[in-house]
Amino acid sequence: MSTVHLDEDEQSVRDAVRSFLDNKVAPVVAEHERAKTFPWELLAQLYEFGYVRGGVPESEGGDGLTMMMQAILMEEAGRCWGSLRTTVNVQGMVARTLAAAGNDEQRARFLEPLLAGRRFGWFGMTEPGAGSDAGALRTTARRKGDGYVVNGSKLYITNALGCDFGILFVRAIDEDGTDHGVTALLVDSAQSDFGVHDIPHMPLRSTTSCELTFDNTYVPAENVLGELGGGLRLGMKAINAGRLNMAMGAVGLSQACLEAAIAFCQQREQFGKPIAAFQLVQQMVVEIATLTETSRLLGYHAARTLDAGGPGRYECSMAKLYCGESAGRAATLALQIHGGAGLMEESPVERYFRDAREATIPEGTSQMQILHLGKDLLGHSAIR
Ligand SMILES: Cc1cc2nc3c(=O)[nH]c(=O)nc-3n(C[C@H](O)[C@H](O)[C@H](O)COP(=O)(O)OP(=O)(O)OC[C@H]3O[C@@H](n4cnc5c(N)ncnc54)[C@H](O)[C@@H]3O)c2cc1C
Repeated sequence: MSTVHLDEDEQSVRDAVRSFLDNKVAPVVAEHERAKTFPWELLAQLYEFGYVRGGVPESEGGDGLTMMMQAILMEEAGRCWGSLRTTVNVQGMVARTLAAAGNDEQRARFLEPLLAGRRFGWFGMTEPGAGSDAGALRTTARRKGDGYVVNGSKLYITNALGCDFGILFVRAIDEDGTDHGVTALLVDSAQSDFGVHDIPHMPLRSTTSCELTFDNTYVPAENVLGELGGGLRLGMKAINAGRLNMAMGAVGLSQACLEAAIAFCQQREQFGKPIAAFQLVQQMVVEIATLTETSRLLGYHAARTLDAGGPGRYECSMAKLYCGESAGRAATLALQIHGGAGLMEESPVERYFRDAREATIPEGTSQMQILHLGKDLLGHSAIR
């Protein structure tokens, strides 16, 4: 239905991954959402298409895909299942950060098994007092002997319950009191003891959204990832790339809303004819289609800007803002077209509606994207 141009390779990757997701994943989504479980065993097969491995250079064991290919993969994941899109997005962020900053030993322990689908990682930045203002994080890692003693807590950490290691952003402090600033630490559940529990949440029922508690948790010094004090730059780089992935996931979600709306309004009859024949219903379907197509164009434009070597920050922010907000509107309209049926858990639009609300929050809320864009356009920062 979309008229956006893809080249032959992009088209064939899109068709192959769509067919796999439609046949192997879509049939198990409702059951997993109900049980709040996730089919981790499927991920290794998805990595063969370039999920997670695509963002890692070939020299580091990844597939080194173009941003455009990665955008198509995320769009398809978003069309199939929000929990899957989020899970592969976070694994991708962890993999890219390890590839960028890990030493040989860390890559062998964490990156290689992650790319093989044998180990899974979480990305721990947000804290109770540090959300949009990530630099305000307060979790500390105080040097003691051959390691660090970590104290503090993290919030909303995707899949921390279910993964076996994570990248934890802390403030690293030497024994003499020198504060190095935000630093990334690799925390391996097999080595370090910390509290983790899932916080019940509305969207993405097949992910966990966890609170992590560190109470004198020991982490060996060899688990520092990258430079002391280099953590915020490292984390923000991963989040910036994650922004386009979130935008493309939202495009896929809007596409799913469009397909569900069209299918439903053609078979549902009221007043003696399909509701598709009513002008007000057609207006809602056309609005979803327009939002989906414009979102896709912005997302692909951001991906092609990055592939052409541009910084792409402006384009990715605009895509994250527009695609996220549009997915919310598309899901609202798709639900409206379904009437009461749209509010029932047996309808996929009930899930689309819940999952769409997430698209405007992580990896920089819509408001933060507006402030980044405003600064680029006007030269004044409205953040501080
Ligand atoms: C499902 C889900 C999964 C997540 N996964 C992870 C994860 O894996 N790892 C991780 O580290 N974090 C994760 N997060 C956290 C996410 O990154 C934060 O929720 C997000 O950065 C926003 O922070 P906050 O929730 O504290 O909101 P706040 O920053 O407190 O913002 C609250 C409101 O105030 C607005 N606001 C804040 N500052 C300004 C300003 N200067 N100007 C105008 N408006 C402003 C915001 O836009 C928002 O509307 C996840 C969150 C969710 C919901």
